[in-house]
Amino acid sequence: MSMVMESPGSRQLLPVSCDVAVVGAGLSGALVARRLAEEDLTVAVLEAGEVAGGATGHGGGLALLGTPESYVALSAREGEARARHIWEYTRRNLDILTSLAASVGIAVRRVGSLRLVREGAAAEQLQQSVSLLTEAGFSARLEDATELDMLVGLRTSEDMAFDPVALTQALLAHPHISVQTNTEVKSIEPEGDELGVWARRQYLRTRAVVLAGGAHVVHLNHTLAQGMKVWPVQAVDCICSEAVPIPLVLSEGRVLLQNWEGRQQLTAWSASPAEGPGSLLAQTAEWFCPQATMLERYSGWFVQSRDSLPLVGELPGLPRVYAVSGLGPWGMSWVFVAVEQLLALMLHNEDPGLLSLKRVWEP
Ligand SMILES: Cc1cc2nc3c(=O)[nH]c(=O)nc-3n(C[C@H](O)[C@H](O)[C@H](O)COP(=O)(O)OP(=O)(O)OC[C@H]3O[C@@H](n4cnc5c(N)ncnc54)[C@H](O)[C@@H]3O)c2cc1C
Repeated sequence: MSMVMESPGSRQLLPVSCDVAVVGAGLSGALVARRLAEEDLTVAVLEAGEVAGGATGHGGGLALLGTPESYVALSAREGEARARHIWEYTRRNLDILTSLAASVGIAVRRVGSLRLVREGAAAEQLQQSVSLLTEAGFSARLEDATELDMLVGLRTSEDMAFDPVALTQALLAHPHISVQTNTEVKSIEPEGDELGVWARRQYLRTRAVVLAGGAHVVHLNHTLAQGMKVWPVQAVDCICSEAVPIPLVLSEGRVLLQNWEGRQQLTAWSASPAEGPGSLLAQTAEWFCPQATMLERYSGWFVQSRDSLPLVGELPGLPRVYAVSGLGPWGMSWVFVAVEQLLALMLHNEDPGLLSLKRVWEP
């Protein structure tokens, strides 16, 4: 039987030792914890705030196929083979989401999405993207979008919507997982063959640590901080007179508009100091729902690697300290497949390939 100690104000007992400590109780931390618990390992999840209180609790739970930039731009930058590989990862992500959500009784809806453009040059790019995607084996088609006061849209059908908070909570409900909220991890130190995890007024010994701290993970590790950019994101929940017919993707993937539990959720992110997410939100709201009643507004941050793909792997100089990070503004399109890669590394020593965080320090 493992020893436990009680912390003031804690909701559960934090074990003194465990097989793996996971830093962060967002969707990525919950996924890691669940998969490890299913391998009969004991897992302690340490969370600075509340379960799903970070980006997971403020995102709309739209898991899209592909990446924000157009497929033609991605192919030009990465080459066609790598672009296809990247989109295949996001399709695999949707497959994992479907089976995992079913296994814990959480509903997932196949909602599809429409990437809209308003100008002729962008419409031409979209047309080229459709041709390349079709050649690469993806189902995508061009649709007239004049009813939405846009020119055309690229329609995909595999995109999914789900409740990320409910999924996070369901994943954490496992007898091998203990969750400690209001426990911010301050440092991780190698101690012989084990690791010491120091949180405020608390200490834990473990065989391995996984950093799944979302945007805040840059404060815990210098290597991760070096490999990442931090960008602002804003979301508003509102009620509009007309619901959108399908989740809409605008401004080259920087704006998402979707119906969510009887409301419309509008999310925008910016990777440019010149154009903050606030102005993108305002433009889109003016365009689609000028009479909207605002219910809630959220401002936060997300981290993205320099090549926009997640970072998965073991940290240099810190054996058995792993990270899943840099999920970016379309984190739901990556989190399931990124965690799958991380678990393959931790349990079977398989290289995370395209997602390996070695690319931060290796050319
Ligand atoms: C407003 C908004 C809308 C979004 N909408 C979408 C969308 O529609 N589709 C999509 O694909 N993506 C979307 N995203 C992105 C997506 O939500 C994130 O990529 C995803 O939720 C990240 O999950 P995570 O578990 O890595 O991070 P988080 O959910 O942020 O979880 C990290 C947790 O770690 C904790 N933590 C951090 N540091 C420490 C520490 N030192 N000690 C202990 N705990 C710590 C934090 O408190 C937090 O709870 C959105 C993001 C935002 C902010």
